Amino acid sequence: MLTFNKIITDYLTRDEDNTVHVQWCPGHTDVKGNERADEEAKEGALLWQPRFVTLTHAMRRSKAQFLQKWTDAWRRTPPTGGFGVANRFPLAWKPKEHVTSTPREVFGRLTQCRTRHAFIGEYYAKFVPAESVECPCGTNYQTRQHIIMECQRYDAHRHILTEDFPGLDLTKLLGTKKGLETFVKFLAKSGAFTKTGTPRGAPARPLLEDEEEDDEEESWWERIERQGNGSGDEGEGGGGEEDEEEEEDGGRGGT
Ligand SMILES: [Zn+2]
Repeated sequence: MLTFNKIITDYLTRDEDNTVHVQWCPGHTDVKGNERADEEAKEGALLWQPRFVTLTHAMRRSKAQFLQKWTDAWRRTPPTGGFGVANRFPLAWKPKEHVTSTPREVFGRLTQCRTRHAFIGEYYAKFVPAESVECPCGTNYQTRQHIIMECQRYDAHRHILTEDFPGLDLTKLLGTKKGLETFVKFLAKSGAFTKTGTPRGAPARPLLEDEEEDDEEESWWERIERQGNGSGDEGEGGGGEEDEEEEEDGGRGGT
């Protein structure tokens, strides 16, 4: 009985969806009709099992099915527009680490840059005709690529990117976990993609909110910087680098 109890307890602890149904029947083979009852019980159990589903289990299954449909639709849609190079992460219900851990101001710039809806000439050319499309460095037409790859205003900070991404491949910098970790450091230090293109000054009067943001800042990119090479790969949903490489080969991506 103790062994039985232990097995059942282990089984129930393993998964909250596991259930146990205990049924007693006399085990003597000489009881008339017992064999038949045994067979019937087994068949009955088979019929009854699939319908005995917990609410948690049903919801999980429904979410998984929906995510699959969403992913299928996303895979069928070619990645285009400004977000195309960055739209490479597999879809998931939970926000990615770069969403939850990047300081708010930097995350804003990161998103603007990944979607190409940023303070840059090529955005102004389309949406804000009053603004100049030139780069303050003297280049006629300021693009996202120009700022990341060649603008001399960021020569002093570009090594942050080239150390791990010598080719400055935008699909890697803006569309992989490791690329975003690196790119966030570049944004924070260089001030690239702010309205002025220079780092934002510290707020004159720090608010409690700002202090909390400072804590956030410590938590991710500074930690990665201390560790040296962004080895913190404990991302959720199995989104390790290997997975991302596969995604790159597939040429598709998510938010
Ligand atoms: Zn420039």
